[in-house]
Amino acid sequence: MKKIIIAAAMASILMAPSCSRTAQRAAADDDFNYHADRFADIEVLRYKVPDFDSLSLDQKKLVYYLTQAALWGRDILWDQNYANNLAIRQLLEGVYTNFDGDRSSADFKAFETYMKQVWFGNGIHHHYSTDKFTPAFSREFLEGRIAALPEGVAPENSAELVEVIFNPEIAAKRVNQAEGADLIATSANNFYEPGLTQAEVEAYYASIKKANDPTPISYGLNTRLRKVDGKIVEEPYRVGGLYSEAIEHIVANLDSAKVYAESPAQRQIIESLIDFYTTGDLATFDKYSIEWAEDTQSQVDFINGFIESYGDPLGMTGSWESIVNFKNIPASERTEILSSNAQWFEHNSPVDSAFKKEEVKGVSAKVITAAILAGDSYPATPIGINLPNATWIRAAHGSKSVTLENITQAYDAASHGDGFNEEFVIDQPTRDILDQYLFITDNLHTDLHECLGHASGKLLPGVDPDALKVHGSTIEEARADLFALYYLADPKLLEIGLLDNPEAYKAEYYKYILNGMMTQLMRIEPGKDVEEAHMRNRKLIAEWVYEKGKPDNVIEIVKRDGKTFIQINDYQALRGLFGQLLAEIQRIRSTGDFAAANQLVETYGVKVDPELHREVLDRYSKLDIAPYKGFVNPVYTAVRDAEGNIIDVNVSYDESYVDQMLRYGKQYNGLSKH
Ligand code: ZN
Repeated sequence: MKKIIIAAAMASILMAPSCSRTAQRAAADDDFNYHADRFADIEVLRYKVPDFDSLSLDQKKLVYYLTQAALWGRDILWDQNYANNLAIRQLLEGVYTNFDGDRSSADFKAFETYMKQVWFGNGIHHHYSTDKFTPAFSREFLEGRIAALPEGVAPENSAELVEVIFNPEIAAKRVNQAEGADLIATSANNFYEPGLTQAEVEAYYASIKKANDPTPISYGLNTRLRKVDGKIVEEPYRVGGLYSEAIEHIVANLDSAKVYAESPAQRQIIESLIDFYTTGDLATFDKYSIEWAEDTQSQVDFINGFIESYGDPLGMTGSWESIVNFKNIPASERTEILSSNAQWFEHNSPVDSAFKKEEVKGVSAKVITAAILAGDSYPATPIGINLPNATWIRAAHGSKSVTLENITQAYDAASHGDGFNEEFVIDQPTRDILDQYLFITDNLHTDLHECLGHASGKLLPGVDPDALKVHGSTIEEARADLFALYYLADPKLLEIGLLDNPEAYKAEYYKYILNGMMTQLMRIEPGKDVEEAHMRNRKLIAEWVYEKGKPDNVIEIVKRDGKTFIQINDYQALRGLFGQLLAEIQRIRSTGDFAAANQLVETYGVKVDPELHREVLDRYSKLDIAPYKGFVNPVYTAVRDAEGNIIDVNVSYDESYVDQMLRYGKQYNGLSKH
């Protein structure tokens, strides 16, 4: 549960025209087209893979096979997200590629938009809100096109699929987090067989969890729950089990990759992963995770498997994902400096010493270049990742923390001149400090969040790591964000050379409060509450410090010409409030205080002021900035000699969004129903 997802508000405000780093990049990037597609609330960008050509041939081959292993998992995620997703994709792509009518008609255009949305969501639900997409074309249009398809193109149950697409009652939400609802019965994801209830699932896990186990496996991480003869059974995702067809392709490519491993240790990591995919054994997954966490030497690295559990309302089962990457050596200096001071940061935090780690182990951090994004990390992708997720592995063996700088660079370059700061930032001096320092402080915030925030603190003995249940992700993200916010303003960052101006942190503080209280609301539909864990976390923090700072007027809401602005009057007091909340959030996490977590999240993190919401949406809509962004991948082509040996790997960037999606659907059809 440790990933940072960029908010569009962040992405656009990140853009800093007078920041020298940005300006340099923009000048060098004139010929690169970052913009791949735009539809609905989405913009699809391209990212570059700088320095790919500087890798050795063996490293390139390693990357190549790992990218193949990454792309072969795509259909697993589609099926995990919702049981009818793959059949619906087959139907939509069949209609699209066989269409011989008027492509400029309103129905066709609406159909094309819908299909692009489905691709982006890896299924029929929005990747972020998890609401089902509403088609803007007519049911008659789709039924007519299906009737006109050649034999065998449409799935046999097409009529049923059309009903799923058009009936708003069916599979309305992929992940339902609404308080008081049966979260399993009302969520459309495919981690649980239809008919299972939340009470049954919770009782099942309670019955299999060993009490006081210091090294618990990640229960349910790679299984689908079913009921057989009245008893709950787990069906593992593995070779010979669920998703075997796709997993066999992943394993075959991992087998090819391991030949080019950079070291015996890395070869062992790949072998352990293959072993896990073959057996489905979660103890083997822990072995793999430990080996992976301890390998800080390899330049090429990867994530591949069932990792994050945001897609499961109970946070048990992992969605399939993969990211292949290699270390950006010069940029990694920044995170290495933070890591080497990890103990100092832990020691000096405002948290009660009972909840601190006596020894912060193996906090490793690096800046990476993403080479491929796949599964749950594609097309929408995190900008920072910290893994593994198992608390005891992190405590005993450390964790790896990465910042995806070619991704943040693409966001930054693509959002030049979009008018966001002029509309939402209160005055020119604040815009100036954002221009000057937001790019660096935002990157530093990500580094602090990932390499120190998530790695800090400890649970008291006997506290269940899942004690915060539905609020676990929100509280964990708040903890890491607060750690980062608190330290961004610390003179230590100047002392260790990461910032050159004691005022620089104000850029990130302003942006964080603006985003948490206002601009992130542009991602929510009118009338809805905040549901996603990262958004709840940002709202919780911003609203809490606003309220607690009221007596001293720390943050002020200013109305000007009918528009709402945020004004921060006392940045140092704000830092103090971040520290207070960090101490409380760490106490909640360390003691597993569910009641306090529930009270904080429900009071500050969920409810939206409808008037402010409307205003933000109106002002934002005039800017025409897509609230969500994602990426197409580069294309890697193996160059082979006459004997078929790979002699080089080329990377190209010209594939369109539609072409990439159609190609992936054909080429990596991992779970064909035929
Ligand atoms: Zn995080």
